[in-house]
Amino acid sequence: MEHRARKRFGQNFLTDKSLIQRIVNTINPAAGELILEIGPGQAAISKPLAESGAELHLLEIDRDLVARLKLIFEPMGLAKVHQGDALKMDYSDIVQNRAFRLVGNLPYNISTPLIFHVLQWNEQVIDMHFMLQQEVVRRMAAEPGGKAWGKLSVMCQYYCEVAPLFNVPPEAFSPAPKVESMFVRLVPHRQPPVAVGDMTLFERLVSQAFSMRRKTLRNCLRGMLDAEQIESCGIDPGARPETLGLEQFAALTRRLEGIH
Ligand code: SAM
Repeated sequence: MEHRARKRFGQNFLTDKSLIQRIVNTINPAAGELILEIGPGQAAISKPLAESGAELHLLEIDRDLVARLKLIFEPMGLAKVHQGDALKMDYSDIVQNRAFRLVGNLPYNISTPLIFHVLQWNEQVIDMHFMLQQEVVRRMAAEPGGKAWGKLSVMCQYYCEVAPLFNVPPEAFSPAPKVESMFVRLVPHRQPPVAVGDMTLFERLVSQAFSMRRKTLRNCLRGMLDAEQIESCGIDPGARPETLGLEQFAALTRRLEGIH
């Protein structure tokens, strides 16, 4: 029976065969590698990934699709299928403490929180290849000073090197999404690019800084750091948060921790 795409699960299935091939060639899976695919759907990329001989794990939320995927992949031992919510799942339950690669044509309705969630496994992840809305990739790869630069850019670039790879038009999917898409690679840094210390504080500070983009840092960081403390990091308290780079957010965090 035909599967009807479910909007609530952000289901837009890849149908363009040459694009699927391009994606798999870009991922370049190899026998023996441990690969976790988020949202395999109707297995458009899962099949070629399994054919590479990689140890493939598929994590899908939709129980109907899970039942189908199990029929396709499990009898021959081509992949292991897991039913669950990729936003809540502890991936260590699947990969234990092994190094793994992460791939997925992600559900666009939850893409930003999902990116924040997967960054937790940064130290174990070899690389990540995702299909996302072009606009989200633009934010991930943005530079300070523009509108696209925000918490997503800071966190992604703290953890990873972000490489936008190629654009994908809506017609490559069925049903076609309303937005343009882009395929992106993230490779975790083995050494963080800046010294932060307490990551929880860093995240809080970055969130607070960008919560009022039009205000000055002095106002945005009220309750965390005063003008004098901001200035002691060599940063103008009258500046807008979007003009600060990674190193400056790190310096403010160190100041907040009192280890400046
Ligand atoms: N990989 C397939 C393809 O390229 O054709 C499907 C991609 S579709 C954009 C997103 C997939 O993620 C769907 O199969 C959807 O059911 C699944 N999904 C949505 N939310 C999810 C979640 N929270 N956890 C796991 N899978 C999810």
